[in-house]
Amino acid sequence: MSETKKNQNNFIRQIIDKDLASGKCSTVHTRFPPEPNGYLHIGHAKSIYLNFSLAKDYHGQCYLRFDDTNPTKENIEYIESIKHDIKWLGFTWDGKVRYSSNYFKQLYQYARELISKGLAYVDELNPDKIRQYRGTLTTPGKNSPYRNRNIEDNLVLFEKMRNREFAEGTLCLRAKIDMNSPLMIMRDPVLYRIKFAIHHNTGNQWCIYPMYDFTHCIADALEGITHSICTLEFQENRRLYDWILNNISIQKHPCQYEFSRLNLEYTIISKRKLKQLVIKHIVEGWDDPRMPTISGLRRRGYTPASIREFCLRIGVTRQENNIAMAVLESCVRDDLNKIAPRAMAVLNPVKVVIENMPENSIEMISMLNHPNKPENGIRKVPFSRELYIDHADFSEKPSKSYKRLVIGRKVRLRSAYIIQAERVKKNNVGEITTIYCTYNPDTLNKNPTDGSKIKSVIHWVSRSHALPAHFHLYDRLFSVANPNTEENFLSLINKESLIICRGFVEPSLNTATPEITYQFEREGYFCKDYVQSTPDNLVFNRTVTLRETWNKIRI
Ligand code: ATP
Ligand code: MG
Repeated sequence: MSETKKNQNNFIRQIIDKDLASGKCSTVHTRFPPEPNGYLHIGHAKSIYLNFSLAKDYHGQCYLRFDDTNPTKENIEYIESIKHDIKWLGFTWDGKVRYSSNYFKQLYQYARELISKGLAYVDELNPDKIRQYRGTLTTPGKNSPYRNRNIEDNLVLFEKMRNREFAEGTLCLRAKIDMNSPLMIMRDPVLYRIKFAIHHNTGNQWCIYPMYDFTHCIADALEGITHSICTLEFQENRRLYDWILNNISIQKHPCQYEFSRLNLEYTIISKRKLKQLVIKHIVEGWDDPRMPTISGLRRRGYTPASIREFCLRIGVTRQENNIAMAVLESCVRDDLNKIAPRAMAVLNPVKVVIENMPENSIEMISMLNHPNKPENGIRKVPFSRELYIDHADFSEKPSKSYKRLVIGRKVRLRSAYIIQAERVKKNNVGEITTIYCTYNPDTLNKNPTDGSKIKSVIHWVSRSHALPAHFHLYDRLFSVANPNTEENFLSLINKESLIICRGFVEPSLNTATPEITYQFEREGYFCKDYVQSTPDNLVFNRTVTLRETWNKIRI
């Protein structure tokens, strides 16, 4: 079976196939439930891809539901960015956007139902005490002294909580399950707490807010979700998910399934930690091109197709994993190689003067926009007596394997003529400022008639036509492979994760837009930065190098 087929046939699909065959469900209804407390990252893309593709492939539905039960951490900016990112990734949710907060009234009624059944109680222990009483993995918990309060009193107190009669952090509502359960989550979990905070959706209508575990299963059931898919850290919560649905009068009972979250080497995939980088100004913002956020990847020049392909390649399992960055990079390279228009840019320029070319002659050279797609057309690139080439393409003391320009040797200028280096001029600190060359006017896209073999092709731009540009070269954001597991992750930032150079691009790039990622010949894939670029100062982000070079450089 091919890798792709295998990945498409993941264990969740096998469960769905079985459920459909047995009649447990007749359609597939999934949801993506982000908490709007930060921007989406590549881990979320894995979940989005899974949930939306299942719905599509099984002709079902997928909802977008904001899990907005914690008003102190959530805001509209995050909601808007999440909607934008999902659409950009190429997915469309069914119907209107949903919010857990739309169900606050129903949730309140279900909480009352649990109280009425003697399955929930208002506790007066403060959060610290609740933690102490909970016990540990090796010691049982202890019942709260308020656990056996009668139903009537509980109902009255819960109502008073709702009516702002108690201070934040005083009372809470807890499920009455089992303080001796081997599963910590089942030791009378908190269902509601008091928070005097303005909610983005419900304003100041509520001062008690339901906890994630109480909200999520009920929202899933109310929406008719059939397969509620989440990451493995919620495995134990499944017991509570089922307990709540089994104990309230709700018709549907969705099932929760867990898969392993995506971890990516040399970066961190957690909104909470990424937020630290933003708040502490360690990066430019959520969309800094080094961030593993969807907005960062977009700004860096990643395409939606490349991220979808990545999600397909990594597959869905229950095994812990730490995916190499090279996997993500190879996805974007494969996509861009097919679609990126080609252009020339010189990142570390040195001047070349072609002495046997007339002073003011300008020739317009035709170049294919894509070497394998003549249907993508050609562009005209000016060629003149003074050019820039890259410093690295000339050597005074070449090694044996060096094939590019040296004094007395010939190279071809991409899509143009063959030149030979004659001599150099240096400044007073010994740096080369100009390379004087001659060209053979009879070699435009033709081999030289003397039969000499040209071993190298280098890129160039015409000095008087080229546009100045800054190039942002990005590297891994962290200097260790697993920053996720380090508490001091902030001190592990790779100091060379951004290197800026100043050079030139061919004039056709005056029409570059941030949505188009180019292949700069021999240099890599680049797109115009939408934040820092101005008409007078073009800034290009390097999306990825042409080949996997990273390990090789470091070893
Ligand atoms: P974070 O720790 O980054 O805030 P989260 O799980 O708290 O992540 P949510 O907004 O609650 O973030 O997540 C929405 C959905 O995305 C959930 O179903 C969650 O399981 C899934 N998800 C989050 N991170 C990953 C990841 N790294 N890999 C796969 N799925 C993920
Ligand atoms: Mg969360």
